[in-house]
Amino acid sequence: MEESNYQDIIKSIYNRIKEEGNPGETAKYISELAKVDGNKFGVGLKLLNGQQFGEGDYQEKFSIQSISKVLILALAYRTLGEEIWKRVDVEPSGNPFNSLYQLEADKGIPRNPFINAGALVVCDVLIDLSDNPKKYFLDFLKEVSGIKDIDFSYDIAKSELETAFRNTALTNFIKALGNIKNSPDEVLDLYCHICSIEMTCEEVCETFSFLANQGANSSNNKVIISPSQTKRINAIMQTCGFYDESGEFTFRVGLPGKSGVGGGIVAVMPKQYVVTVWSPKLNPKGNSYRGMKFLEDFTTATENSIF
Ligand code: GLN
Repeated sequence: MEESNYQDIIKSIYNRIKEEGNPGETAKYISELAKVDGNKFGVGLKLLNGQQFGEGDYQEKFSIQSISKVLILALAYRTLGEEIWKRVDVEPSGNPFNSLYQLEADKGIPRNPFINAGALVVCDVLIDLSDNPKKYFLDFLKEVSGIKDIDFSYDIAKSELETAFRNTALTNFIKALGNIKNSPDEVLDLYCHICSIEMTCEEVCETFSFLANQGANSSNNKVIISPSQTKRINAIMQTCGFYDESGEFTFRVGLPGKSGVGGGIVAVMPKQYVVTVWSPKLNPKGNSYRGMKFLEDFTTATENSIF
């Protein structure tokens, strides 16, 4: 694939999708997200050779929400090593992102780190690993993203905390089942803050470049995690990155990826590129409608996926 063709391919898919309808709903249960313009649409692509491409609102910040779940896992995994898998499993859940359903039978071990239950347990791990887990996470984020002034969006975190009834239930339930060690309030507070991070498509591509590059940041080659850890995180994104639509995403797109209810999707082509799409209107499974469509058309047009 000629590198110069990427911009043309992105542009033509972007324009075609923009002309089609824009079905779905923005996430309404977090009041700050309900305010976002549903017609925003941006695409960013970063190749490992440093070339970058973008279209539409790709330099506008959006709430990355559950995309952060990959980053907290990377931090906990590099610090704790394989021990992490005693606390959270690596199986697709086949259930919605905020489901409580399987936890009782699974004795409080969430099916995977990319559903809310799993990310809440990873937050509990981060609290054990640091006296100041918010700073610990932000420092890690600075290291992987290169964005020196990155901070939480305190308004988004606050608005999510105000209506976090399901996540409160999940945290308490896992605590009762013995897989949360710290106070449920502290775990929930950290979780809502990590979800509140805002980035542009361009910044998400830069941040996730280590997952395309065997664990090293593609700009400065600084090692974040090992190649084996990278393979495993990509594998979990492939099988669990889209909740009960993970099979569909794999079937249609064929790349490891992760979505968030802010309407962002990041997808990784190992050893080649990272692509990020942002479009806030979500399908019934909570994944960006246009994001899924764009990525399906992108891997079709480039005739390139991990399969
Ligand atoms: N903060 C959101 C929540 O817990 C994240 C969910 C998501 O992005 N799918 O509900």
